[in-house]
Amino acid sequence: MTAAGRRGRGVAVLGSTGSIGTTALRVIARQTERFHVAALTAFGNAELLASQERATSPSYVGLVSPNGTKPPAGWRVGAASLVEAATRDDVDIVLNAVVGAAGLDATLAALEAGKRVALANKETLVVAGELAAAACARSGGEIVPVDSEHSAILQCLGRRNRSDVRRLIITASGGPFRTWTPEAIGAATLADALRHPTWSMGRKITVDSATLANKALEVIEAHFLFGIPYDQIEVVVHPQSVVHSMVEFVDGSVLAQMGVPSMELPVLYALTHPERVHDDGVPRFDPVAHSPLTFEPVRLADFPALRLGLEAARNGGAAPAVFNAANEQAVALFLEGKMQFAAIATSIDAALAALGTMQATDKASLLAADAAARAHVAARAGRN
Ligand code: NDP
Repeated sequence: MTAAGRRGRGVAVLGSTGSIGTTALRVIARQTERFHVAALTAFGNAELLASQERATSPSYVGLVSPNGTKPPAGWRVGAASLVEAATRDDVDIVLNAVVGAAGLDATLAALEAGKRVALANKETLVVAGELAAAACARSGGEIVPVDSEHSAILQCLGRRNRSDVRRLIITASGGPFRTWTPEAIGAATLADALRHPTWSMGRKITVDSATLANKALEVIEAHFLFGIPYDQIEVVVHPQSVVHSMVEFVDGSVLAQMGVPSMELPVLYALTHPERVHDDGVPRFDPVAHSPLTFEPVRLADFPALRLGLEAARNGGAAPAVFNAANEQAVALFLEGKMQFAAIATSIDAALAALGTMQATDKASLLAADAAARAHVAARAGRN
């Protein structure tokens, strides 16, 4: 079928071969009256991308890095494919499921083009939250979060004024090391870190969930998405991952959004917001089967990556971008077996100490801070 003959709104799925990307394609396949796939991009997984192309017939396919394989004729190859896919005329919604700061340009370009960005790529807001907000204000683009915590907050907030909010309470599963001693966490292996108790996700975010760096990224994401000051955003550990987050209002009322730990609903809602649509693919919640629900304080002293991220958030300037880039570089080294688990946080700490006070307001200076932080972590790892 040609793109012109398609029903519903066109969706560009950036990072379509990943955990969120494949969930998004399943959701869209169940909602063919409302949405169609207009564009797909991946980094290097040409085989899965080709099968996704056959299944969805998008008008545009982009592959960032073909890794020596010969991509089919008609595919756009190179990093520019992300921005091209995100700004096409036949694209109404850009579902950005790229991992890392590599997703930044596409988010900003889509917002400048006035599109809805269904944002899984939280790193965009950590690196350049102010730039994304400015792009929305200039061009009428909007960000709707895919992250389950932020989807929960959006659903709890509804149309209420931000001045009605006393606190956002972001829940954290606590990751695989929630009950481990500091000594055991220090000796954790890659296999340990990749064994997430409640969520099945890509490798980078799974490690971020083990260090709790992911919660720092999410606090920064919430700050920019909802315009709530950092001292009104808290993190609480909730091992069952059923309450996806809560909002406390000024009169003391607390609204929570609940569901099974699955990304089907947050992805669907990011596409349909503010509407709700019927979807049998979203797993149903059974309060008895999912009980009991428990909450614990976060062990900040034992998870230094979270503490460092929260400090970077409050310091502002280039600090959040440095935190994010140092974390990305350290996690990449950890995933390659070239860094110990505990060194992820010490690498971030060292990068922030060296570079965290850099001034950065525009994209060029933020990207310079990002590059300097990656180089700092790589050089330090090379010396150790
Ligand atoms: P995955 O690693 O599973 O997928 C990442 C996707 O991005 C793949 O399609 C990959 O392509 C592509 N990609 C990787 N690097 C680049 C690059 N440099 N340029 C362009 N494309 C690239 O990640 P997830 O789906 O788990 O996470 C994606 C984003 O969503 C992250 O920001 C994460 O924090 C966020 N998120 C994820 C959740 C989850 O449940 N997984 C929940 C909430 C947020 P290829 O396959 O070809 O390598």
